[in-house]
Amino acid sequence: MKEIIEEIDIVVEEEKDSNELLEIKNLSVQFDTDSGVVSAVNNLSLKIGKGETLGFVGETGAGKTTTALSIMKLIESPPGKLVSGEIFLDGENLFKIKEKDMFNIRGNKVSMIFQDPMTSLNPLMTVGDQIKEAIEIHQKLSREEIEEKTEEMLNLVGIRKERVNDYPHQFSGGMKQRVVIAMALACNPELIIADEPTTALDVTIQAQVLELMKELKDKYNTSMILITHDLGVVAETCDKVAVIYAGTIIENANVKDLYTKPLHPYTLGLFNSIPSLDEDVSRLMVIPGNPPDPSNLPKGCKFHPRCTKKLKICETEFPKNVEVSPGHFVCCHLFDEEVQEEDK
Ligand code: SF4
Repeated sequence: MKEIIEEIDIVVEEEKDSNELLEIKNLSVQFDTDSGVVSAVNNLSLKIGKGETLGFVGETGAGKTTTALSIMKLIESPPGKLVSGEIFLDGENLFKIKEKDMFNIRGNKVSMIFQDPMTSLNPLMTVGDQIKEAIEIHQKLSREEIEEKTEEMLNLVGIRKERVNDYPHQFSGGMKQRVVIAMALACNPELIIADEPTTALDVTIQAQVLELMKELKDKYNTSMILITHDLGVVAETCDKVAVIYAGTIIENANVKDLYTKPLHPYTLGLFNSIPSLDEDVSRLMVIPGNPPDPSNLPKGCKFHPRCTKKLKICETEFPKNVEVSPGHFVCCHLFDEEVQEEDK
């Protein structure tokens, strides 16, 4: 843990120089389903600097993947629909870009790595051909240059160039994810969105793949959004963290602040539910209740039915996003001075 805090200290120092790469403003996305309208993302705002890694943490169904797919403009419509919001990448509003131009942005400027490498790899093509294809689509290079770059990318992710003509089924899960990372990095994107990239892998392979992603990100100064539900992975890999609940970011800060001073009752619940090696506990603390039904979200604070600290106002009014210390935001009435004054 000491090493992690020291690492975080260095990152916080570096963070001062970073410029903004991505800004999401008041994003709301809904889906029409048989059981009604599902509000997957609700008024979500977020910023990421150049070279930064943001851990995007939340339970299944909290809206993490929908946010990621919105950045890629890959929300299928219908059933999905963008209700409100804007997303700026390097100052350019992605929602005003035509689909044919967006094709160039995907892969060239933003790449996505999915949870299961087999969903990204074509089982009928050799891994070499798949990396070549990723390069060919986005870069004007000669055949020799593409061959060279393909071998370079394989080498970069620790795969021998002799395996360029092998098919995905000839690789282990960890190796397949390395191939996917090579494809994602092939065009030097400014932003990589990694959606639970190690969940389908064994624990030891997970650590290797995360280490590789960290090394490559540092080498190319690529920004990264790491979608995960694993707070340990975030501590080791990320500069900043945003906690999402019911489609809204309820707390975000740099990793050191959030890990040393978690404030939102939901974030505290997440930390309390991690088993500790130092304490002998027979039962883990769990957050009471279940995540809300996205087709029938509660009024006020979406967490109030599960919150042990709720106030009367929590049932009716959505809390403000309060900056409690520089860069540490929490969306909870307990930290809103006006609410606290009135409550006295
Ligand atoms: Fe709990 Fe109220 Fe804060 Fe929501 S706003 S987390 S219900 S105290």
